[in-house]
Amino acid sequence: MPDTPPGSFARVAIDVPIVHVGASLFDYAITPEFADAVRVGSWVVVPWGRGRRVGLVAERSDHSEIDTARVRPLVAVLDDAPVLPPSWLELVRFCADYYHRGFGEVALPAIPKLLRTPPAPKARGSAFARARKRFVAAAAAEVASTPPPLNDAQIAALDVLLAANGFGVHLLHGVTGSGKTEVYLHWLSEVLARHANGQVLLLVPEIALTPQLATQVAARFPAHSVAVLHSDLADGDRAAHWLAAVEGRARVVIGTRLAVLAPLPALAAIVVDEEHDASYKQQEGVRYSARDLAIACASQRKVPIVLGSATPSLETWFSARRGRYRLLALPERVGGARLPALERVDLRGKTLRCELAPASIDAIAEALGRGEQALVFINRRGYAPVLACEGCGWLSRCSECSAFRVLHRVGAARGPSKYRLVCHHCSAEQAVPRVCPDCGNVDLEPLGRGTQRLEEGLAELFPGRRIARLDRDVARTRGAAQKVIDAAHAGDVDILVGTQMLAKGHDFRRLTLVVAVDSDGGLFSSDFRAPERMFATLMQVAGRAGRDPDEAQVARSRVIVQTRFPDHPLFGYLARHDYAGFADQQLAERREVGLPPYRFQALLRAEAPVLVDALAFLAQAKQAGESLQAGKGPQGLARASAESLRDDAVALLDPVPMAMTRLAGRERAQLLVEASARRPLHAFLRAWLPALRDLRSSARWQLDVDPLEI
Ligand code: ADP
Ligand code: ZN
Ligand code: ZN
Repeated sequence: MPDTPPGSFARVAIDVPIVHVGASLFDYAITPEFADAVRVGSWVVVPWGRGRRVGLVAERSDHSEIDTARVRPLVAVLDDAPVLPPSWLELVRFCADYYHRGFGEVALPAIPKLLRTPPAPKARGSAFARARKRFVAAAAAEVASTPPPLNDAQIAALDVLLAANGFGVHLLHGVTGSGKTEVYLHWLSEVLARHANGQVLLLVPEIALTPQLATQVAARFPAHSVAVLHSDLADGDRAAHWLAAVEGRARVVIGTRLAVLAPLPALAAIVVDEEHDASYKQQEGVRYSARDLAIACASQRKVPIVLGSATPSLETWFSARRGRYRLLALPERVGGARLPALERVDLRGKTLRCELAPASIDAIAEALGRGEQALVFINRRGYAPVLACEGCGWLSRCSECSAFRVLHRVGAARGPSKYRLVCHHCSAEQAVPRVCPDCGNVDLEPLGRGTQRLEEGLAELFPGRRIARLDRDVARTRGAAQKVIDAAHAGDVDILVGTQMLAKGHDFRRLTLVVAVDSDGGLFSSDFRAPERMFATLMQVAGRAGRDPDEAQVARSRVIVQTRFPDHPLFGYLARHDYAGFADQQLAERREVGLPPYRFQALLRAEAPVLVDALAFLAQAKQAGESLQAGKGPQGLARASAESLRDDAVALLDPVPMAMTRLAGRERAQLLVEASARRPLHAFLRAWLPALRDLRSSARWQLDVDPLEI
């Protein structure tokens, strides 16, 4: 077609895995009727196989690599949709490159489902028009709240932020209750005042738990509409809020990790609260870190970003220590309130009742006696982690996973109880066997305790006390978690039992005691990040105690950590509230053994019905990688990149079964790739992936860049 007008092909991003097709963008012909309407960032409907899909125009071109006779034409242009800004396409491109995925695999899932569904041919009114009508900004409380005057440390931090011009990463490091949220809100408010139509993005780890945050933020920005984005929203609401953000009608956007991929045309500032939280890392699909993408986004858009935490991730702390991030410290709680004292209770040789040492039981009784609240923390939901046969040693293993099925009580807490065995990994459920499946013995015993059994035991230890539980099982019922939290605030609860969920951001005024039941899990784990996570969790849980402004109450607040290793250094740092000491010591260890943030990792995971197939795939993958490194790569590999591949900066470790080998009936193995710098790692991965796609294997595989769990 010699006289094709310029730009008559559209390169369209579609949500198909690059693993299968090897391509990322697909060419479609732009027929003259659409020639004016199609722009980079336009939404189009394209034929795909026998069906149709919504795609995004990533590029326009006057030629196609494909035989033009085979290029199919676009079906429609969604001209009611907002043209997505180049800044967003650039962020998507960065994300796709960095995590080695297709452009469409990143772009399309970032768009609410309602909006990326091809419209029915005769649909009345577009999905966009409906979403526009539906948007109702997060409602403020009755009266707009007036901010408290900031203290000196807050003012110092705010001054630095207000002076920030262009891109810069700031770490706001402050203990729980030190007033970080106030600093964010003051800063964002000033940014909005300075930028006539500017937008600000506030990322939080888990918004479903804290609807009051949106209300609080809305109250502080009565003049600006606030959009909220998280995966728990109804489809219609998500589309409405997303569109309001994209069209600039919402100037404040609060959301969980997925919000980092919302196109914000007038972005002026970003806050990532609790930046260390693991939920910022997506664990399926494109395994991106929303925190890292937020930093990349801030850099591309030349805007300042604040990462806030009481216990920053070691990656972030390292960058702050190196001076790459600006460290802003809020060393004290607001009003100078002391942090509660932390005591270690040695479990060795103690007779426990309901997992609690006598000292812990006494402490609970004392707090309740004064009319105060106690929080009992255990990071295990369900009734008991395993059911066992006393006769033959049978254990309630999951048939599909290398894990035990957990005994759960279902139905009401009072009244006849029913139990089920549930796998926390594959969700398989079964009735509790009446007799041992192996030997017929009728005595089946629950071993250990989860939140439900602890709740039950506490009810026996403290009869007549009001006990409430909060964990993911409770939270499954919409509104139930909030009910527990409200009851605790209202003083209608004496003892709170729960998992990490209780640790997140709640300000219980009458809470003067925290007991961490089982704290040893992270001390000797094979996962090198376990101590870091454990420290953060305990610090956060401990931070729930003594938040009332009443000094006497703060003074008698206690945090008890039950442990069999009271002399472990981690507890020493914790007792001294010495995050910096802990973090520096962890960094020294990691440097010694060559772990992140001193080295850079990517993990190739493979799974197959049988382990040998997964391992065999990884062995081939390793071989393919080594021949690339030896310079025997596929032809066409640019010389420069071949050089960097030969560089011994990249190491391929041996394939090994994953710690939890079997999951949902498939067996899993992994191969770790390590490098001393990001650049050679990514150069290697870029060359390696096409070679992996060519391997013949029944194994399914994915790549995880900067994996959090190894
Ligand atoms: P963080 O986010 O560090 O845990 P918050 O910002 O939530 O801390 O502050 C904890 C509590 O202290 C909140 O109730 C907040 O309203 C209050 N607060 C924060 N800063 C001040 C201040 N300068 N004066 C009085 N109260 C404050
Ligand atoms: Zn048995
Ligand atoms: Zn299972």
